[in-house]
Amino acid sequence: MKMKLSEIARVIGADYHVPDALAPTVTGVAFDSRKLHPGDLFIPIEGERDGHAFIGAAERAGAVATLFKSGHEPVATVLPKLVVQDPMKALNELARYYLLMKVNPKVVAITGSNGKTTTKDMTAAVLATQYHVIKTQDNYNNEIGVPMTILSMDTNTEVLVVEMGMDRPGQLNVLSKLVEPDVAVITMIGEAHIEFFKTRDKIADAKMEITDGLKEDGLFIYNGDEPLLRERAKAVAQEQKTFGLNPDNLLYAREIEAGETRTDFSLSRWPDLRFSIPLMGEWNVANALAAILVGRRFHVKPEAIQAALRDFPVTKNRTQWVTGDAGEPILSDVYNANPTAMKAVLTDFAQFPCSGRRIAVLGDMLELGEASAQLHASVAAALDPAKIQDVYLYGDEIVALKEALAAKYAPDHLHYFPKADQRGLIVALEDSIVHDDLVVLKASHGLHLEKVLQALIEGA
Ligand code: ATP
Ligand code: MG
Repeated sequence: MKMKLSEIARVIGADYHVPDALAPTVTGVAFDSRKLHPGDLFIPIEGERDGHAFIGAAERAGAVATLFKSGHEPVATVLPKLVVQDPMKALNELARYYLLMKVNPKVVAITGSNGKTTTKDMTAAVLATQYHVIKTQDNYNNEIGVPMTILSMDTNTEVLVVEMGMDRPGQLNVLSKLVEPDVAVITMIGEAHIEFFKTRDKIADAKMEITDGLKEDGLFIYNGDEPLLRERAKAVAQEQKTFGLNPDNLLYAREIEAGETRTDFSLSRWPDLRFSIPLMGEWNVANALAAILVGRRFHVKPEAIQAALRDFPVTKNRTQWVTGDAGEPILSDVYNANPTAMKAVLTDFAQFPCSGRRIAVLGDMLELGEASAQLHASVAAALDPAKIQDVYLYGDEIVALKEALAAKYAPDHLHYFPKADQRGLIVALEDSIVHDDLVVLKASHGLHLEKVLQALIEGA
């Protein structure tokens, strides 16, 4: 980005009376003084800490100016201050102006309870075969991350692929209206943030807000395996396309072959093409279907899509294979967990070839609120003693799953350790696992299964 400070002041309605010719040029924005580049405009955001306290640090890092909340107690700085009612709102206005007046790319907005980042990366890879694409970096998907992503675009960007997250109603409404997407995508509805929302219906309502700013001639792409979305899509006036694993979707996957590090599949269209993605998990096929529909909207040829998906750059592959100290392969997925994802991982895991036992080590899924016990118990559907012979449960909330499994698992194949006894879990696993076993670890990050993983690798 490159804008005169005087132009920025006009856009956000701040008093700054310096002629354009004399005003400094702003080459970026930053809200974290540690990540500020010389030439940036500093945006003090009041979060857990007040960003105004870092204006001095921003000045030393080379900021050319700072936003400043009107009425805030004075801060000594030589930087020009653009005084506004609400720096967050000003950031939003600046991003919108930059998007529309300086770049004006096509915009693809992606939300969903899970799969946003994966779908964003796949979509960007598909579109990059033909266009100059900018995508959300890492996971910057909130009311700060989205404007920052917009302001990071160079002016010749043709398509912006932007991830949008939310944990409250109304957030996606603001983000969708900010970018006015040409294509809006919902990957799926899960249980993330159900502690706050209480029901999946309310989560679906909030996710639907991604269509609030959808252009009149825009396209709404959503997971048609989810009845809550099908119901709500009826109220959307724009063109729509569904994807999923069921044949009643416009685009669906057939002959899925779940590998340990890759997944192959064919489509309901272009039957001669076999697709392959560098990720395990049937759920990632659904994410790929969304990316394929977006690619087709932008006229990318099926063969080019196939090639782009084969080895697209994955931002952060949370599932990884490692080898334990007995030589046993371990599938580690210890950074987040929710019922949908846990069931999905177990379904794949149960099919992987294995000459010994398949062993599942599962921990609490956090932030599920009142539905926690019921949702933990629901994972029992994905556990079959004929395929996953031993289950180790770890945590306090997962006790509900232990009860749900008691009918199908014999007591000596169903092991339980409360959260306080991670040591007990490690010792039990170390005593039991041999090299031809296959192990999966999954829990919310708060359970710190990465320590269990470390112990299994090093031998403890
Ligand atoms: P975040 O809310 O952290 O931004 P995200 O929506 O961007 O998450 P990803 O980072 O793409 O999601 O994937 C996170 C995890 O969610 C994956 O490792 C996988 O376990 C699960 N997951 C991804 N896609 C799906 C899907 N379509 N259905 C169910 N689970 C999924
Ligand atoms: Mg993400």
